[in-house]
Amino acid sequence: MNDYRAKTMLADGGCGVLTIDLGALARNYRKLKETAAPASVAAVVKADAYGLGAGLVSERLYAEGCRHFFVAHFVEAVRLRPTLPVEATLLVLNGLMPGEEEHAADLGVTPVINCLEQAAAWATEAKVRGTRLKAAIQIDTGMSRLGLSEADVASLRADSLFAEAVEPILLMSHLACADTPAAPASAGQLAVMQRVAAHFPGLPVSLANSGGVFLGGDFHFALARPGIAVYGGAPVSDLANPMEPVVRIDIPVIQARTVPAGTAVGYGGTFVTTGETRLATLSGGYADGIPRHLSSRGALYYQGVRLPIAGRVSMDSLTVDASALPEGVLRLGTMVEFVGPSQSLEQVAADAGTISYEILTRLGRRYRRVYI
Ligand SMILES: *Cc1c(COP(=O)(O)O)cnc(C)c1O
Repeated sequence: MNDYRAKTMLADGGCGVLTIDLGALARNYRKLKETAAPASVAAVVKADAYGLGAGLVSERLYAEGCRHFFVAHFVEAVRLRPTLPVEATLLVLNGLMPGEEEHAADLGVTPVINCLEQAAAWATEAKVRGTRLKAAIQIDTGMSRLGLSEADVASLRADSLFAEAVEPILLMSHLACADTPAAPASAGQLAVMQRVAAHFPGLPVSLANSGGVFLGGDFHFALARPGIAVYGGAPVSDLANPMEPVVRIDIPVIQARTVPAGTAVGYGGTFVTTGETRLATLSGGYADGIPRHLSSRGALYYQGVRLPIAGRVSMDSLTVDASALPEGVLRLGTMVEFVGPSQSLEQVAADAGTISYEILTRLGRRYRRVYI
């Protein structure tokens, strides 16, 4: 496989290969459905499905029975709506900016209403059209990021124009600490959600993101909304990751050399060899989402052998210390693993001082994408 990849690589101009396993994605979705049952499970496909391609990801998940898809920005919904069957509900987490209402209603996109201004604008749009428009209502249960306060909920419930014009289809909120089961904040947010939901009998409720799915049945309500776990990221920190990896990233060697002791490597000469060293330069850099924070910290792997990053990650390339491999193994076009069986997304994220979400969403546009 490595040889095959190397050949197709060279034919494709020498950038890395991002392999996305849609079968693993589907199995992760099924696992989340089993865990959240009897709740339904939506998919969060914002930021181009965490960098993996919202169109193909959504199509695969629709085939698995997913009927609710969340993006963050309206522009993402504009792109995704035509590729989704009409039966799929497409919701915009950040809600609509003033002026987007007519376009959203034309497209059949469902906004999440986060404030009274958005509520009024959507109700006005419905009045103008002479129809009832659907919406999700978000409550701020303690994260202080988005959503109506309990006082706002009281005014909305008193608003007869809103009641006539808008058909709420979902009451939702977002957990601040779902990835940390020991955190007491989640129970507090759950209590607020239950209290607010009591004012909306029969209205489906959604609270759980990926971490929330693993917090137990109280958090599931009618609809869970996982993102990262579908893509293979760990839903809960500090625990073995129950999800299957979806992403593999391989980067080709573009040059290999052996240098003597005392040789400086890369920008700033921050890495200096202490003995004769085999170096390999790879065709991927921070413009490809390989964090510059991995300079002289992270590693790539070749058939399970760790190749530490030597010096600074450049924009389009990086250099590894390949001394652990015999001479001649790494040659022009040889593929080296950045994320895969030897190194998880979580490991890369930890080395870079960030989270798997940021690694995925910053992968950049230069990879050759292979969907399997
Ligand atoms: C991003 C997001 C999610 C998905 O979160 P994950 O941690 O990736 O599962 C769910 N709900 C809201 C409101 C979000 O912003």
